[in-house]
Amino acid sequence: MSSLFDGLTIRHTYADLPSAFHTAVPPQPLANARLLHVNEALAARLGLDTARLHEPEFLDVVAGRQPLPGGRTVSAVYSGHQFGIWAGQLGDGRAHLLGQIDTPDGPQELQLKGAGKTPYSRMGDGRAVLRSSVREYLASEAMAGLGIATSRALALVTSDTPVYRETVETGAIVTRVAPSFVRFGSFEHWSHDAERLRILLDYVLREFYPELRRESDSEQQRVCRFLEEVARRSAEMVADWQTVGFCHGVMNTDNMSILGLTIDYGPYGFMDRFRVNHVCNHSDTQGRYAWNMQPSIVHWNLYRLASAFLSLDLEADALKESLQAFEGDFLKRYHANLQAKFGLRTWTGEDAGLVDDWWRLLHVSGADFTLSFRALAQAPAIPEAFLDLFEHSEQASSWLQRYRQRLAQDGSDTPQRAVAMNRVNPLYVLRNYLAEQAIRAAAQDDAAEIETLLTLLRDPYTERAGYEAYAAAPPDWGCRLEVSCSS
Ligand code: AMP
Ligand code: MG
Repeated sequence: MSSLFDGLTIRHTYADLPSAFHTAVPPQPLANARLLHVNEALAARLGLDTARLHEPEFLDVVAGRQPLPGGRTVSAVYSGHQFGIWAGQLGDGRAHLLGQIDTPDGPQELQLKGAGKTPYSRMGDGRAVLRSSVREYLASEAMAGLGIATSRALALVTSDTPVYRETVETGAIVTRVAPSFVRFGSFEHWSHDAERLRILLDYVLREFYPELRRESDSEQQRVCRFLEEVARRSAEMVADWQTVGFCHGVMNTDNMSILGLTIDYGPYGFMDRFRVNHVCNHSDTQGRYAWNMQPSIVHWNLYRLASAFLSLDLEADALKESLQAFEGDFLKRYHANLQAKFGLRTWTGEDAGLVDDWWRLLHVSGADFTLSFRALAQAPAIPEAFLDLFEHSEQASSWLQRYRQRLAQDGSDTPQRAVAMNRVNPLYVLRNYLAEQAIRAAAQDDAAEIETLLTLLRDPYTERAGYEAYAAAPPDWGCRLEVSCSS
């Protein structure tokens, strides 16, 4: 009988690194594991036959009962700064790398999250609850639908295994997919071991940044080129977060992808009511990872990454310099995103002021992030619906007047502008309460709500008849939900 994985090229380059980088550890299966949802579109891109995803062979792999044929199951070591403080060794406490599949988009690593204890579990149980697994599954695909760099989610497995958090919850496993799950913290782990740091750098450059390699480079040039590129990607990633109102929630250096991908979805949140210092993670009592802090936190994290290379005897000033373009790279992307969201053909120095006043207006009125941007397309022609969002405040009217003038001056007060704006300002967004509804259904083994959300979030710009409720601001109960580090 042929295997679902026949014909795929499966490698395990991370597991091929020396043994100090990982530990081979088998997953611990869940009781009565069931495939709750599979991402067929992603499976197809991985080269899997989508007609066979409901066969036991697939479940066996994504439930951790069988290894990925041709792969090698390991958990990776890393360290990191958590909430600004050096935390020492962390590592994959509940994640297992299975191996990577070669695809037309490059190698894609498969990783199980929640498949049991590893040598890096410390006090943890190695499990992930269904609640947070549904949230990660949905968020990965929502971010991809928004065109934001992210890890993906291939499969969601539920079970009868009890997992003890504040209450008894259900154990689940998400199969995550990304070219690599190497983190800033993977490098920080070797900040006092030059030899291993070099091995990791060579690995990451060879596999994921081949375009950066120059035979003639000195080590310092190589490291700086690498840091510059990681900084550029991270700047663009966080600029994209800002302009959709995404808050990550736990931007510790161990949750920062070396490829500039959004990873490790936990107590994240897409803002409903805008607050400039919105904190989505109930455990973040200091507001370290508030929305308006995110760009500077990424920059701070990059400094932690750069510092890891001091052990190579490089010039500290050169390392620092390699991060200098961060602010410019961030602003370039941020302004480009906003230019498109405001429907402007050009971007002038004065538009930053228009944007600042826009944020101020949203902040004082507590208007809905997504709906406010979405309403902009029609606002100049039909101001009623727009002004409703701001309870017809004077501030909203005068901002709209300025916006109208700006559009006229820009020559962009045309019907095409509204159409283009609705291609960049999403109508549907993964609000906490929508995720919560999907979680409640998932607890009954019902994945219909997950399917509905995925359909909307994969193309969040196109309005669909019959789904008006999914585009609305949250009901009262949905505003009171709290998400924390407990997952
Ligand atoms: P996070 O903040 O979720 O990215 O996790 C920080 C660290 O704690 C990582 O090393 C995780 O692998 C580990 N961790 C989190 N939850 C658990 C758990 N339930 N069991 C084992 N390790 C965990
Ligand atoms: Mg993490």
